[in-house]
Amino acid sequence: MRPFAYERATSADDALARHDGETLYLGGGTNLVDLMRLGVEEPAKVVDVAHLPYDRIQLNPDGGLLIGAAVSNSALAADRTVREGHPMLAQAVLAGASGQIRNLATVGGNLLQRTRCSYFQDAAKPCNKRRPGSGCPAREGEHHNLAIIGHSESCVATHPSDMAVALAALDASVRVQGRDGEKTIPMDEFHRLPDNEPERDTNLDPGDLVTAVEVPALGMPSRYRKVRERASFAFALVSVAAALDTDGDEIRDVRLALGGVAHKPWRAHRAEEALRGATATRESFLRAAEAELEAAEPLRDNAYKVPLARNLIVRTLSELWEGTS
Ligand SMILES: Cc1cc2nc3c(=O)[nH]c(=O)nc-3n(C[C@H](O)[C@H](O)[C@H](O)COP(=O)(O)OP(=O)(O)OC[C@H]3O[C@@H](n4cnc5c(N)ncnc54)[C@H](O)[C@@H]3O)c2cc1C
Ligand code: SF4
Repeated sequence: MRPFAYERATSADDALARHDGETLYLGGGTNLVDLMRLGVEEPAKVVDVAHLPYDRIQLNPDGGLLIGAAVSNSALAADRTVREGHPMLAQAVLAGASGQIRNLATVGGNLLQRTRCSYFQDAAKPCNKRRPGSGCPAREGEHHNLAIIGHSESCVATHPSDMAVALAALDASVRVQGRDGEKTIPMDEFHRLPDNEPERDTNLDPGDLVTAVEVPALGMPSRYRKVRERASFAFALVSVAAALDTDGDEIRDVRLALGGVAHKPWRAHRAEEALRGATATRESFLRAAEAELEAAEPLRDNAYKVPLARNLIVRTLSELWEGTS
């Protein structure tokens, strides 16, 4: 491992001032330290931001939430206001990692964790995301768990976070402290598709510090479902974050996002459009899922994700509908 300096920030301004050149922020370290051990990340300095005063979950009078970036994943999943008002968010966090990891992992670090593509994690292999221009061996190699939608010639990786999928469905925004002041980035614009710059996971600028996540009130039943290769410590093959609001048989509003299928949490806008105002039936859920997945371009070994995603969408929406009807 490359020797590095450790510094602890005392405020957001202090964190930004300490961030120079080859610096990375350190949350709980559950992803970054692993990648440093593997020689994938080689910062000259890490600035610890896990002890900044962003460790609270605030319930706003309108039912929305302001979640500090230093809140642990465990605290987020256990919070009563989150479990009652935004159950899909608590379920998504609980579906990830283990209890011990969730105790250390922070909200900011969870959003910014790196892909689990095996070539990215092996410093001896080429990988456009790790070393731009070196190639993407996953495209012809091991990709059974990689993207089916929105990928590019340069990269077919998936985004690993479960929490981010729920936040995408919830229309959340990320609060960021940058060199030019504070900005708020909608979840849909926070993570990027790879295009020809797969080294960029997000639209953050160098030194940007995530300070909080804003989550609007939801006011409808919601659920997170995840399919994985084993019951714990496994990233999503496919996951679905969904919420459904009905008036009798009519769908008033719906939220749908997919995990495990793209380089970013995939907000299913086409399916949502097909469902708003439609009658809630298994057939309409199926048609909406198929409309969304028309854009899928599976690779040689991951076409199974298309029917898996379709069935998971239909099942999750059906469960929500049966729970409300
Ligand atoms: C065995 C195992 C299984 C796992 N399974 C799952 C799973 O199924 N689902 C899932 O979603 N996750 C899973 N995880 C990942 C885990 O959720 C992440 O490691 C964790 O959320 C990262 O949070 P952290 O605070 O430790 O981040 P760190 O490791 O400290 O940082 C991660 C990245 O975020 C950056 N960063 C941290 N905080 C900030 C900030 N405030 N502003 C800007 N940049 C910041 C760091 O520089 C780094 O690049 C698993 C992890 C392990 C080890
Ligand atoms: S899919 Fe992306 S992360 Fe994986 S090898 Fe290709 S470029 Fe690297």
